[in-house]
Amino acid sequence: MSDDRHNQPPASHLDAGESSPTPIEIIRSNRRKNTSSAQRVGGRIVVRVPAGLTPVQEQETVNNLLLALERQTRRRNLNTDRNLAERAAELNKRYFDGKLKYNSIEYVTNQQRRYGSCTPSTGSIRISDRLATMPVWVLDYVIVHELTHLREANHSTAFWKLVNRYPLSERARGYLIAVGMEEAE
Ligand SMILES: [Zn+2]
Repeated sequence: MSDDRHNQPPASHLDAGESSPTPIEIIRSNRRKNTSSAQRVGGRIVVRVPAGLTPVQEQETVNNLLLALERQTRRRNLNTDRNLAERAAELNKRYFDGKLKYNSIEYVTNQQRRYGSCTPSTGSIRISDRLATMPVWVLDYVIVHELTHLREANHSTAFWKLVNRYPLSERARGYLIAVGMEEAE
């Protein structure tokens, strides 16, 4: 039996690097054993707080939970960025004799329809964090694609010749189209 009351106040929460606020759902629980928590569920954040708090107490509790969640997310992203850098180094070695020079490769949360981008002038590569949960061979394709832009800025014949040395290029392109991702120019 649940006596939770669900409601959705017009609250929102903006993560660093995110282009639109994440909707927040606050659930006030009347259960005697009060537990507070905040977690991401799909595209929103669900916050559970005890019922019967004053509005000020509730706001404070919600803010603290959101801050804790943000710190946790940032720590996790740091770890995955490290993995991304390792894969890029490996692919650089395998396909470019380790000769490509770049400054940073990291996941970003504000590219949901776009799988990646590369700015050759600054040597920075950004990969959509959606790739973090896709098969590794798709991620590798995207990394190879963006790394290749350091050599060839445009999608020229020379560019595709380099990219297609990665054996699963064709399949990965099909996969990305199927999930609605492209690389907007
Ligand atoms: Zn491209």
